[in-house]
Amino acid sequence: MKSKAAIGRIIETLKGIYPDSLCSLQYDKDYELLFAVRLAAQCTDERVNQVTPALYARFPTLESFAEADPKEVGEYIHSCGFYNGKARDIVACARELLEKHGGKVPGTMEELTALPGVGRKTANLILGDVYGQPAYVCDTHCIRITGRLGITDGSKDPVKVERQLRESIPPEESNNFCHRMVLFGRDTCTARSPQCAGCPLKADCDMGKTL
Ligand code: SF4
Repeated sequence: MKSKAAIGRIIETLKGIYPDSLCSLQYDKDYELLFAVRLAAQCTDERVNQVTPALYARFPTLESFAEADPKEVGEYIHSCGFYNGKARDIVACARELLEKHGGKVPGTMEELTALPGVGRKTANLILGDVYGQPAYVCDTHCIRITGRLGITDGSKDPVKVERQLRESIPPEESNNFCHRMVLFGRDTCTARSPQCAGCPLKADCDMGKTL
């Protein structure tokens, strides 16, 4: 288990590199973030940001999504991959938000994960970014980097990683820490060729220290 002091140094170093730790998905309305995260599965945030302006222009309200033909929604999100399933989930989710939640994105893990196409990763992101609650968003970058650093035991299971992060990362730091993991995973600790030689976290990284 990584020491508290080392975790504190990692958190502070990342804050220094990425003072703004905003989610890279673009959205105006809470439900748009929910749908954007669904679209981002097996896809890049960059690609999602390219398709959502036209999608949200064609379907400008939750009601318009609820009444939409999933086939038409699919035409707008084709390039995100798995578009049939994503379109079905988005339309079904819009209907449930209207029917069960008064048109609002709910604010508990239980309610969020009961929505079509919403898993713990998405629910954590909504809790953190929309509701300002502690949130441990275990996406591919977060899972990979926290394993390399030795904050987790290297498990690839998002549920196990989330549990281990809850034991290590202070709740008030959790949401921004996870956003910074994504940024750091894109430009330094990449999946295929991590830039360990010049990495500012090397001294506290289990993998970096062995190199
Ligand atoms: Fe990633 Fe290497 Fe930095 Fe460790 S030292 S965080 S493996 S880039």
